Amino acid sequence: MNVDLHCHSTASDGALAPAVLVARAYDYGVRVLALTDHDTLEGLEEARTAALALNMQLINGVELSCTWGGATIHVLGYGFDMKAPALVEAIDRLHHGRWLRAEEISRKLAIKGMPGALEGARAIQKELGDSGNAPARPHFADFLVRGGYVKDRAEAFRKWLGAGKLGDVKQHWPTLEDTVATLRESGAWVSLAHPWHYDFTRSKRRKLIADYIQAGGHAIEVVNGLQPAEQVGSLAILAREFGLLVTAGSDFHGPGAWSEIGVYRPIPEDLPPLSCRFKYDQPTAV
Ligand code: MN
Ligand code: MN
Ligand code: MN
Repeated sequence: MNVDLHCHSTASDGALAPAVLVARAYDYGVRVLALTDHDTLEGLEEARTAALALNMQLINGVELSCTWGGATIHVLGYGFDMKAPALVEAIDRLHHGRWLRAEEISRKLAIKGMPGALEGARAIQKELGDSGNAPARPHFADFLVRGGYVKDRAEAFRKWLGAGKLGDVKQHWPTLEDTVATLRESGAWVSLAHPWHYDFTRSKRRKLIADYIQAGGHAIEVVNGLQPAEQVGSLAILAREFGLLVTAGSDFHGPGAWSEIGVYRPIPEDLPPLSCRFKYDQPTAV
């Protein structure tokens, strides 16, 4: 695909530095790329410089975590001003929260006989490319592997870091409503990330989308990497019913993982892609 609106670099939990990611995207045929790291804008400048040199279009992007109905939800923002005060402040708060969370994970692992996790995870993160962000769970997983506490990343998540385990420290995220408002105030286009990935019933998913629209959302991500075609079909039905714009992206995190940059199922042809609006319109401020 020549457009990819969802991917991660070492600025959050991706394996490639922003410039390396951009070069890989180019090699895979991508010409319009949005870098959407989790809760940070740190990779955007490096990505933009790299994209410019390759004559690619780099769209400012971010994937923000928030809560809705007791679940953690991801919202994608695009095309905002990087200096928009509402967004900068929201990200500062998230950033601080992530550091507190990393400290908490480290403290809990130490109690279980695995000391030095924060420093170890931070060192691994720095090997990949430095950012001022707190290490994330994949970095902790690699620390546990290197320390010989587990045999691989999968075991690290299964025993210590995955959902419901000791290292699954909940962060106090802002609400979906506030997050969409922050993005809208910052001049962003907004898309609800991978609405199928949440473990919801059909009616709860519909309620999520209705609330999201109420909050000011523009689009939903109908295609996330190579997710099953039936899921794309169900999300397409929701997009049509609610009259939403749609986005798609690989959600690429690194080579050899489950997705590749620029690779995802096609968007059903009748749906209006948000990417077509980037060039011509600005979302109306609220
Ligand atoms: Mn991620
Ligand atoms: Mn996500
Ligand atoms: Mn993502």
